Amino acid sequence: MISVRNLSKLYKDFIALDRISFDVQRGEKIVVLGPSGSGKSTLIRCFNRIEPHDSGILSIDGQVINAQSDLTQLRATVGLVFQNYNLFPHLSVLDNCTLAPRLVKKTPRAEAEAMAMRFLKQVNIAEQANKYPIQLSGGQQQRVAIARALCMQPEVMLFDEPTAALDPEAISGVVAIMNDLAQQGITTLCVTHEMGFARHIADRIIFMDKGRILEITPPAEFFTNPKTQRARDFLDQMI
Ligand code: ATP
Ligand code: MG
Repeated sequence: MISVRNLSKLYKDFIALDRISFDVQRGEKIVVLGPSGSGKSTLIRCFNRIEPHDSGILSIDGQVINAQSDLTQLRATVGLVFQNYNLFPHLSVLDNCTLAPRLVKKTPRAEAEAMAMRFLKQVNIAEQANKYPIQLSGGQQQRVAIARALCMQPEVMLFDEPTAALDPEAISGVVAIMNDLAQQGITTLCVTHEMGFARHIADRIIFMDKGRILEITPPAEFFTNPKTQRARDFLDQMI
C-alpha cells in the first residue's frame, strides 16, 4: 500500500530524513515515535508533499509521489490531521466538511452534506454542524478536523500529534475517535505521544532518531524489549 525507499529530505545542508525505508500494508496502523527533532513531522508531511523530499521513492498504491504528482488528487487520497486543526474560520462546521468534496470531487451539495453529517455524527459533534470553529473547544475543533479529512474518503489517514494541543478530557475524546477509525481498517500513520494508542492499537511502532529509523517492531516488543539503547532511553523518559 505504502512503500518508502531510501527517502531523504534536507533543509539546506541539514539532513532531516536520512535514507528511510519501510512498507505499510493496507489497513495497518503505524505509530511513529521518537525524540523532538527526529524527523517525524517531516516524514508525515512528505506523504502529501507539504514537504517535497529530495531523494528516494515514495509511493501509495503504486502511485509514485514526486514533483509530477497531481497534488489535488494526492491530497484526496491522503488525509492529514495536524496538531492545530486549521479549520477555515469563516466557514461553518458543515461547510468546512463539504468544501473539498464539492470543489475537488464535484460531489453535489446534498450528497456532500449527508456524508458530512454521517462523519460528524461519528465524531460526536453533529449537533454543532452549524456553528463556526471559534465557537468550539479545541477538542471539538480537532474532531471536526478529523471528520473533514474523512469526508474526502481518503485511502490513508496521517495524524501529526492530533492531541498535543488538547486538555486531558478532550484527548480521550480524540483518542476514542482514532480507536474507532482503527477498527474500521483505515490505513493510518500517526505521530503521537498517546502511549495507550501506541500500545493497544498500533500494529507496528516506527522509532526514529536523527532522521533515521532505528526500529520497526510490534508494540508488545517495542515497549518491553526495545532493540536499541536509544529507544530504551526514550522509553525511560516517557514514564
Ligand atoms: P517534534 O517531536 O518536536 O515535533 P519532529 O520529530 O516532528 O519533532 P521535525 O519537525 O520533522 O521533527 O524536524 C526534524 C528536523 O528538521 C529538526 O531538527 C528541525 O529543526 C528541522 N526542520 C524542520 N522543519 C524545518 C524547516 N522548515 N526548515 C529548516 N529546518 C527544519
Ligand atoms: Mg513534529
